[in-house]
Amino acid sequence: MSEPMFLRPVFHERIWGGTRLREAFGYEIPSDHTGECWGISAHPHGKSIVDNGKYAGFDLSELWQNHRYLFGHAQGDVFPLLTKILDCDQDLSIQVHPDDAFARSVENEAAGKTECWYIIDCDPGAEIVYGHTVNSKEEFQQKCRQREWGTLFQRFPIQPGDFFYVPSGTVHALCKGTLVLETQQTSDITYRVYDYDRVDERGQKRELHLEKAVEVIRFPHQNHWVTPSTHVDQSTRITTYIENEFFTVQKWQTQGRSWLVQDRNFLLISVLRGQGKLTTKDGVYPFFKGHHLILPHGLGHFQIEGKTEWIVSFV
Ligand code: ZN
Repeated sequence: MSEPMFLRPVFHERIWGGTRLREAFGYEIPSDHTGECWGISAHPHGKSIVDNGKYAGFDLSELWQNHRYLFGHAQGDVFPLLTKILDCDQDLSIQVHPDDAFARSVENEAAGKTECWYIIDCDPGAEIVYGHTVNSKEEFQQKCRQREWGTLFQRFPIQPGDFFYVPSGTVHALCKGTLVLETQQTSDITYRVYDYDRVDERGQKRELHLEKAVEVIRFPHQNHWVTPSTHVDQSTRITTYIENEFFTVQKWQTQGRSWLVQDRNFLLISVLRGQGKLTTKDGVYPFFKGHHLILPHGLGHFQIEGKTEWIVSFV
């Protein structure tokens, strides 16, 4: 028997968070400054726990360590992906993440952080920070010293449904009024470059990490615009945004009924809109907006019924 595993999300309060995770998804959030819903995670800072079936009560890292057949005996010390929904009520700090080699040698962590964003919703006029304008580390440091933030960072307007690929070494920030699904490597290493001189309720600024940041930022910056491709399988429309050594990320839009097959090591699913039923050879599983689930190895053929929109990822 191989059944879908529904996961219990973990929430993180953030200085920049809001209430949209409750409003948009009905989640019970810990406060009105909730920034992150970790939907699918095996990271020690917030592990998903299975809510149903044979593995109810197990956390994802435990399953990865001791029940690897669920993931097709995929390789790796840590579960490779982390799926989050972010409510950016305020601007996030401008930041950069290291690659695998730097994370291992300097931070003693398993992986660096390459990430990507699906814009679920955003306010009119919303933007992202993506990349910088200079050619060298020295120029970057000089612009930081002179506080020339306006000419150092690139900003781009965004729309709901946009998708952005953010490889490690890319200076970036999500900005206010944005609700995003992020798919990333399992890593929680962030080097802050600029935090708008904000202070918390105790008057403290958050720490910056400029020295490490300039070690990992790429010079010059290169834009990595995504060209989605779409195919239709029965009544499911599958849009592939990115497919590389870190992850494949797709949007599945269903309307009516489709028979599909889970022939990957595993599939991660986050339900962004609608509701429906997932039928496998072993049972029927209703799903709703806000659910996060894994279809394990060997699940085989399944039917989706309903009008729904999923973000699906795999390695
Ligand atoms: Zn980031």
